[in-house]
Amino acid sequence: MLSHLECARCGRRHDADQVQNLCHECASPLLARYDLTRVARPTQDNSLWRYRDVLPVRAPDPAFSLGEGMTPLIPLPALSRALDANILMKDESLIPTGSFKARGAAVGVARARELGIKGIKMPTNGNAGAAWALYAARAGLSSVIAMPEDAPLITREEVEASGAELRIVPGTIADAAQAVKDVDLFDASTLKEPYRIEGKKTMGYEIVEQLGWRVPDVIIYPTGGGVGLIGIHKALQEMRELGWIDGPLPRLVAVQSTGCAPIVRAFNDGAAESTFWENAYTDAFGINVPKPLGDFIILQAIRETDGTAIAVDDTQILHDRNETARLEGVFLCPEGAATISAVRALRKDGWLKSDDEVVVLNTGAGIKYPGVRL
Ligand SMILES: *Cc1c(COP(=O)(O)O)cnc(C)c1O
Ligand SMILES: [Zn+2]
Repeated sequence: MLSHLECARCGRRHDADQVQNLCHECASPLLARYDLTRVARPTQDNSLWRYRDVLPVRAPDPAFSLGEGMTPLIPLPALSRALDANILMKDESLIPTGSFKARGAAVGVARARELGIKGIKMPTNGNAGAAWALYAARAGLSSVIAMPEDAPLITREEVEASGAELRIVPGTIADAAQAVKDVDLFDASTLKEPYRIEGKKTMGYEIVEQLGWRVPDVIIYPTGGGVGLIGIHKALQEMRELGWIDGPLPRLVAVQSTGCAPIVRAFNDGAAESTFWENAYTDAFGINVPKPLGDFIILQAIRETDGTAIAVDDTQILHDRNETARLEGVFLCPEGAATISAVRALRKDGWLKSDDEVVVLNTGAGIKYPGVRL
């Protein structure tokens, strides 16, 4: 049961039953906290709502769900042989709207509706805007979405079809943020709203449940805003507190593109925060975030779990997308393919052992990116 919100930086408590964005004290992201003494095991729902006791929506409406969550965890034996590794893929391509952003949107929109919010605004690299616009439509909320002009075309069409107002801007997601700055609606930007992360954390719960309530050695995540990685780490910590898992947590790996790698640079510099990445560009559009708001939380999660951060280039990403299709019959999104490039690089430098059990996240459907090719 949701108890309160806590600032990720200064720890100040905030009332979870009021509409909240950032910490009133230090303008950092707020994290949902629960009374973990009253959490039941998962229900039978074949969706992320099976973890309702650790979700912020007080009265989930079964009719609202589009079946988001409970995606398969699939072994990749041929690719594992080729890379001398032990790889399992959490396949988020099967989710409504074709990306794991639907997890954050389903929970974030459901909670927004519960709190009486009538409309949302957000800058996006495409997939989040599509997911939030569509779930907002389902919930009867209005939305204004801004995205860079080279965001995947299909995500524009999803937003437009939903009836949302779409604003296309030159530049990156940072420029898109400026384009909705003055819109008078609830700001649902990455980590400026506390509940998107709660939806995304269910990836962590599912991985552990699907492994029979044990953790893998390593989890590799394509990192943009980093919400998925922070969420998975949060889920692991909650499960440890609940007594559902014990022992060391999986080493968490943030993968970025060499065209936009602020987290990798900060990790290598031993810095607590990232600095703005100039002229950011990558075909892996979902991870094109020049300065994530939650950078300090991402870096903490990686360091606390003895993980690492690694950048891979777009040519390698597209090569590995094709290699995965050829060997496994799976057409990854570029962001997902980056995790395979990371396995390849980390095996080469010995950071990964051949018998380390590695879970990679394919965060979306390859078919959302027509025309992206070697
Ligand atoms: C948004 C997105 C990411 C990055 O997610 P974060 O949790 O914000 O780091 C990765 N892959 C895809 C397909 C995305 O849409
Ligand atoms: Zn604070």
